Amino acid sequence: MRADLHVHSNASDGTDPPAEVMRRAAQAGLDVVALTDHDTVAGHAQARQALPGSLTLVPGMELSCQLEGPSRGHSVHLLAYLFDPDDPELAAETRRIRDDRVLRARAMVDRLIDLGVPVSWDDVAAIAGTAVVGRPHIARAMAACGAIASPDQAFTRDWIADGGRAYVDRYALDPVRAISLVRSAGGVAVLAHPRADRALLVSDAQIAGLAAAGLAGVEVFHPDQPEPEQASLLGLTRDLGLIATGGSDDHGSLTGHRIGSHTAPPGAYESLISQASGAQPVRGC
Ligand SMILES: [Zn+2]
Ligand SMILES: [Zn+2]
Repeated sequence: MRADLHVHSNASDGTDPPAEVMRRAAQAGLDVVALTDHDTVAGHAQARQALPGSLTLVPGMELSCQLEGPSRGHSVHLLAYLFDPDDPELAAETRRIRDDRVLRARAMVDRLIDLGVPVSWDDVAAIAGTAVVGRPHIARAMAACGAIASPDQAFTRDWIADGGRAYVDRYALDPVRAISLVRSAGGVAVLAHPRADRALLVSDAQIAGLAAAGLAGVEVFHPDQPEPEQASLLGLTRDLGLIATGGSDDHGSLTGHRIGSHTAPPGAYESLISQASGAQPVRGC
């Protein structure tokens, strides 16, 4: 059983439509794939329709959260699985996050214009299309107008990296509240990549706090998480009685198509389903 529990489509900031993501998941030999776009379930319908016979889809979402820190909060991502997509409270919060993303993206474009970058909101909106607009779309617009040579160069302190000259902070959920919203909607919550990025580190004590708040698992196996961190997180999940999960965090060509590169350990998928009541995994036919 190979389960990649973390992939994105162009319903958020991935590059491929959900149908193509499902095709690639089957091609990679996966048995289970979770579609976890940022703050939206908009890709689920197309993924269901295009689901190959060999594949099971876990409907999911990656929620944007913020942990309170000494100076300012820092971003934390929470993977939510098998929740009721029509739960009014969870749907209202994700709508609020998405609405804020547009306001924030517009504010970043304004700052770039002030810095002399010849981008416009229309360029960014055209690149995002129907997806939830985000920094990758702005980065692509910056490359398209020649301000930078390639989109990855936008993610520096000069431009739109966290704390960069044109960076604008965003609305995000408190993770304890997010866990409670997901659970109330019948879903299970897993902390995404807590050690993937120095700026986004979540400490053992913070993870223990989230476990006490109802967190079900921690994403241990993730391509940006160094192996020593994976080993230490694995020990922590055992101590705290949490499920250790894994996924590729594939964003299509943005991350070089890595679907299936990292998967959940045996039993993780079954443990997640056993705790969920808001939705069922979808089996291809
Ligand atoms: Zn993430
Ligand atoms: Zn992700």
